[in-house]
Amino acid sequence: MQLRNLVRHFAGRGGVATKALDGVSLSVAAGEIFGIVGRSGAGKSTLIRCVNLLERPTEGEVRVLGEDLLLLGDRALRERRRSIGMVFQHFNLLSSRTVADNVAFPLEVAGVPQAERKARVAEVLGLVGLAEKADAYPAQLSGGQKQRVGIARALAPRPSILLCDEATSALDPETTHDILGLIRRLRDRLDLTVLLITHEMAVVKEICDRVAVMEAGKVLEEGRVFDVFTRP
Ligand code: ADP
Ligand code: ADP
Repeated sequence: MQLRNLVRHFAGRGGVATKALDGVSLSVAAGEIFGIVGRSGAGKSTLIRCVNLLERPTEGEVRVLGEDLLLLGDRALRERRRSIGMVFQHFNLLSSRTVADNVAFPLEVAGVPQAERKARVAEVLGLVGLAEKADAYPAQLSGGQKQRVGIARALAPRPSILLCDEATSALDPETTHDILGLIRRLRDRLDLTVLLITHEMAVVKEICDRVAVMEAGKVLEEGRVFDVFTRP
């Protein structure tokens, strides 16, 4: 995945634009777990939202498998977006739906037939270790279990890229450790490329292969975690 010179402006009060992204270029290798760190307001969420095209950059390229997603038409774009799964800080589960129906949701939207949906839901719930909770409702689950559901939902359409937006920030340290271990195992098993944003250095140190540090819409530094955080 290559991000080239991404720029995203937001019109601000009194006509002063906020440059949420001010020329960000990053190259993430297939199968890599890549972290983006930075303080609140640095532009991390805007960046990740530009990758799954929830947000349209003002300028730049988002290349996935050699294709600039910003040049695709609506139909092709909808297809491609299925290859990008997203996991959220507050899980974003539907409280009126069971675990299985939450996980099935993106498959319903994609028009996957029911028999196939059932098989895929069982498969991804197995992958996250929640097979026995298929009929539970989100309110009956712990935070860590809710995030496992969020991960299963993201994986159901069989993405090649997993985006994690502060995926462990609402969890205690022990549960964070469990979820990071799960993400790493899923990366190994499913050949996922993982792009995660976090404000927690411990998360980066535990799981990331490489990291970029953002501030004020720019990448200040980028490299292997050890090099970026232990150099004098
Ligand atoms: P982070 O995720 O690192 O906290 P964000 O990407 O959320 O940073 O925000 C980067 C900057 O862009 C901030 O100054 C924020 O206020 C601004 N911003 C983000 N989204 C919007 C929006 N929809 N409208 C206006 N300004 C925004
Ligand atoms: P294999 O292909 O040898 O069965 P994998 O480790 O590739 O083993 O996959 C394990 C299981 O996960 C398989 O049932 C496969 O269909 C499923 N799977 C593979 N890729 C994904 C994905 N991106 N999301 C969800 N499930 C997947």
